[in-house]
Amino acid sequence: MNSTCLLNADLHCHSIVSDGTLSPEDLAARASANGVELWALTDHDEIGGIARARAAAHAAGMAFLSGVEVSVTFAGETVHIVGLGFDENDPGLRRGLESTRGGREGRAREMAAELARVGIHGAFEGALKYVGNPDLISRTHFARYIVEVGACGDTAEVFRKYLADGKPGFVPHRWATLGDAVRWIREAGGVAVIAHPGRYHRFDATKEYALFSEFREHGGQGVEVVTGSHTAAEYVKYADMAIEFGLAASRGSDFHSPAESRTDLGRLPMLPGKLTPVWSLLQERVALPPQAA
Ligand code: AMP
Ligand code: MN
Ligand code: MN
Ligand code: MN
Repeated sequence: MNSTCLLNADLHCHSIVSDGTLSPEDLAARASANGVELWALTDHDEIGGIARARAAAHAAGMAFLSGVEVSVTFAGETVHIVGLGFDENDPGLRRGLESTRGGREGRAREMAAELARVGIHGAFEGALKYVGNPDLISRTHFARYIVEVGACGDTAEVFRKYLADGKPGFVPHRWATLGDAVRWIREAGGVAVIAHPGRYHRFDATKEYALFSEFREHGGQGVEVVTGSHTAAEYVKYADMAIEFGLAASRGSDFHSPAESRTDLGRLPMLPGKLTPVWSLLQERVALPPQAA
């Protein structure tokens, strides 16, 4: 496999198994049509789509890495840690993800009660209509229902008005710890990556520094530099931070849905050439399509 920065790798996206709208097979077809050469499916707190995604990737001629996006609470905020190239049968990882998913239904019922107070009724059942995996009801499913009932024009507006921290439908939740998430991924043979660091707007420079340094101390090895969540200025900022902290760099669209996502699969700038791509740490773990293996 080509281990340079000039590889069309897309190592972050979501299927119907978490809060995306496409099946793993449809995502694979779309990634391949967009020229993706190395692909990973990274559903939230869930690895149930990986086997189907790998088979579809191989049928389409793409190299594949196992993936997941783990929800973490760090310094009182939600942070996402992507795991890549792990053994998805690892019992510790499976148990950890199961416990992370565990609180979602209770949280969703509380969200629905809060939303009812501001006039949005039936949100629990409404969100469930959009859920592909009953273990994984997320804010995104609520957002789709709130658009459906006409209270907002699109899901971004729903998050601004109802679902972001401090808004009426937001229910604080305690996810995995940073140390646990990194350990589950590492002990399953994978590489842990800080997802879209530019999105943690509530962190000042001190907290961001703490996130990067504690992540490293726990054994984390990568950071997303080029992601659908970053501006061009953030590509530069996080490329510099990758070098400062000795982290490898990842690239991923964070694609969820043709109707909602700004960035399509594989349609991102390449990683800056001065960086170490995260796939160079994972050459042994990349599953190549049968004809290429
Ligand atoms: P949850 O894990 O239930 O807290 O849901 C988090 C998901 O909500 C993220 O993975 C995104 O898909 C989505 N999300 C968070 N903030 C926004 C936003 N401002 N606009 C659109 N989607 C968002
Ligand atoms: Mn999501
Ligand atoms: Mn995320
Ligand atoms: Mn994501």
